[in-house]
Amino acid sequence: MYSRIKSAVCMGIEGRGVCVETDIGRGLPGIGMVGLPSTMVMESRERIKSAIINSGFDFPKGKITVNLTPASFRKNSSCLDLPIAIGILSSGGSIGEVSEGWGLIGELSLDGRVLGVEAALPMMLYLKDSDLCGIIVPEGNAAEAALAGGNIHIVKDLKECVDLLCHDPQEVNDKCRLERIYTVLEKDCAGNNNEMSASDYGDIVGQEKAKRAVTIAVAGRHGLLMVGSPGCGKTMIAGRVAGIMPAMTEQERLETAIVRSVAGRSNESINSIKRPFRDPHHSIGRAGLIGGGSYPVPGEITLAHNGVLFLDEICEFNTEVIESLRQPLEEKKITHFRRGEAYTFPCNFQVLMAANPCPCGYFGDRDKECTCTQADIDRYRRKLSGPIMDRIDMKISMEKVEYDDLTGERNGLTSEEMRRQVIGAIEFAKQQGRETYNSELSEKEMSSFCALGKEENTFMSKAYHSFKMSPRSYSRALKVARTIADLDESETIKIKHLAEALNYRFQE
Ligand SMILES: [Zn+2]
Repeated sequence: MYSRIKSAVCMGIEGRGVCVETDIGRGLPGIGMVGLPSTMVMESRERIKSAIINSGFDFPKGKITVNLTPASFRKNSSCLDLPIAIGILSSGGSIGEVSEGWGLIGELSLDGRVLGVEAALPMMLYLKDSDLCGIIVPEGNAAEAALAGGNIHIVKDLKECVDLLCHDPQEVNDKCRLERIYTVLEKDCAGNNNEMSASDYGDIVGQEKAKRAVTIAVAGRHGLLMVGSPGCGKTMIAGRVAGIMPAMTEQERLETAIVRSVAGRSNESINSIKRPFRDPHHSIGRAGLIGGGSYPVPGEITLAHNGVLFLDEICEFNTEVIESLRQPLEEKKITHFRRGEAYTFPCNFQVLMAANPCPCGYFGDRDKECTCTQADIDRYRRKLSGPIMDRIDMKISMEKVEYDDLTGERNGLTSEEMRRQVIGAIEFAKQQGRETYNSELSEKEMSSFCALGKEENTFMSKAYHSFKMSPRSYSRALKVARTIADLDESETIKIKHLAEALNYRFQE
C-alpha cells in the first residue's frame, strides 16, 4: 500500500516542502529510505519503530520504502519522524488514509511522545503558505504555533496525532485548538516569568558624553568604538543600547522570532521578544561569529539581527575572525554554500566595539601608569585599522567617572529620554525623504542630503587640513553631522553639528 504525507524541513531560515511517500511491499522486513536523507534522518528508523509499537499500534510486516521528495536536496531534520511514522501506519493499514490537507512536523521519542523541534517556525510558515487545511506540530513548539497563526494544532504524542488525522482538517473545532495552544503557553510562561527589569541609562552617573554619542550612533546606525581603561563603564554603556532603539515592527519581530526558532531558543513567549543584545567573547571562532557547520546554523551576527552586536576588547579578537565580518556588515546578510545549496541568514544590527587604549589598558589613565613600550602600543593600535574599521563612523574616549560626578545630583539622561531623541531623529530623516540610516547613505544621496552652506564649507575645509583627514574620515564626519542635525531637527547641517561630529572622528 502507498501513502503520501506532507511535511517540511528548514534550510537556513527558510522552510521547504518535503513530501514523505511510503510504500509497503513484499520482501524482507525493514525500512529503506531514499531521497537524500541525512544520517540524522536515517537514524529515525529505530525511533519510529519503537514509537509506533509503544503507542499500541501494529508495526506493518513487509518491506517498507520511504521516499523523501523532492530528491534534489539533503534533508537533515528529526522533524520528519512524525510524518514518516504516520506514512508507515497509513500504508500498513493500521490507520485509515490521511487527507492531503494535513501537514505534519515533529520528532518522536521511543515511548511515542512527539517532541519539539528546532526551526519549527519557518517550517510552519511554509506549510501555512502552501494552502494546507491543517498543520500538526509538537506541543513543545506552542509558542511558535501561536505566532505562526493559521490552522495549527499541537499534539503531545503519536496517538493524539492519529486521533486528529481521523478527522477532515476543516472539521476540527477551532476553539479547542486555540485554547489548547494558549493553555500550554501559559504554563510555559509561568515558569520563566522572573525576567529582570531592563537596565536604564539613568543608572549611569557621569557618562553624559558617552550617552550622547550612543544616542547619535543609534539614530544614524553609526558603528561606535569606545576606547578607555578597564572599568570606565564601556560595558555598561553598551549593554543598554538595545533599550533606546525604536520599538520593533511586526516584520522585525517575526524575523527575530524565526532566527530564535532556527537557533533553538524559542521557548519564551512571543510577546517577550525584545531587540537582541549579543556580546560574544573575543575567543570566538569564525563559525561561531558568522555561522557555519555542515548544515549551517546561525552565528552571533545573525542572533544579533535587529538588535545590537557588541565586540568588547576588539583588539583581542583573532584578525581573521574580525575580517570575516566585513561582507556581512556590508550586505546585512550572510550566505553559506554547502553541497550546492545556499543557506542565507539575515544580520542587520547596530555594531558597537570597545577597546583598551593599550595592551595593559592604562595608557593615559589618571591613576595608574601604563607599562607598555611604544612598540607594544603601535602594534596594538594597528589592530584598530583595516577594512572592518570602515564600518565604524564614531570613536569616543571614555574616562573613569570623577568623584564629584559620582556624588553629585543624578539628573542625567534616562533611556526613555534618549529613545525619544532617537525616534525623533529617525522620524525627521523620514520627513526629509531619507529611507535609509545616515550611515548607509550613498555618495549620491550624500551630495543632496549633506550639502553644506558656504560658511560650513570653509569650516570643514579648515578641519580637513588641520586634522589631516582622509576622504573617508571626511565623509564619515559628514554623515555623523547629518545625524546630529536630525537630532536637532535642522534641515541644514550647521557649524555646531559639524564641530560635534569632528569630536567623534576616527582616524585610522
Ligand atoms: Zn599600557
